[in-house]
Amino acid sequence: MARYTGPVCRLCRRERTKLYLKGERCHTMKCPVAENSDRQKRAFPPGMHGNARQRQGSEYLGQLREKQKARRIYGLLEKQFRNLYEEASRRPGMTGTNLLQFLELRLDNVAYRAGWGASRAQARQLVRHGHVTINGKRVTIPSYRVRPGEVVGLKNVTRENFNVVRNRDVLDRNVPGWLETGENGFTVTVRVVPQREQIDESIKEQLIVELYSK
Ligand code: SF4
Repeated sequence: MARYTGPVCRLCRRERTKLYLKGERCHTMKCPVAENSDRQKRAFPPGMHGNARQRQGSEYLGQLREKQKARRIYGLLEKQFRNLYEEASRRPGMTGTNLLQFLELRLDNVAYRAGWGASRAQARQLVRHGHVTINGKRVTIPSYRVRPGEVVGLKNVTRENFNVVRNRDVLDRNVPGWLETGENGFTVTVRVVPQREQIDESIKEQLIVELYSK
């Protein structure tokens, strides 16, 4: 499965906002995009002319940056993201909301929301390496779309994994209301498909729809 393997702070600098791609480090002063960061001098787009580049305020640029931001937050490549959009546009309802719901219901995102991974990339690795189950059966496909009523769990042996224990202790992330925790936080059940207001990412999905529907 293809995925971006380059430096991730660069992506946040490009979007000029925190995308929380590195886990614990994103909450420290080492984050180059954080206010008052000790690396604040790098809070500009990457590249030789990043610091000098003037932003053109075109409509297209706004739409493109919003799409890139959403794609990078959830760790998808362009083709995967585009396919998801196409599917969302065929479904009844608001295309932008459908798209965000599809993204939230990805198995790697659910594992991240459950607090098992410090970042979506780490949660995805848990899935890929067979640590995550659905209704007791191992599923290794990060893009698997979890359905309401399905129980996502961590394998027993993984519950003592150093990283998982540390993430749950240190990150102290709140599990969203559309998930219900069980077995001391080692399982989560998708209660309902999340509504737009339950998805806390600051994504303007309407701009993405405008971009792709041109
Ligand atoms: Fe983004 Fe995290 Fe890097 Fe900050 S530390 S730039 S939030 S990936």
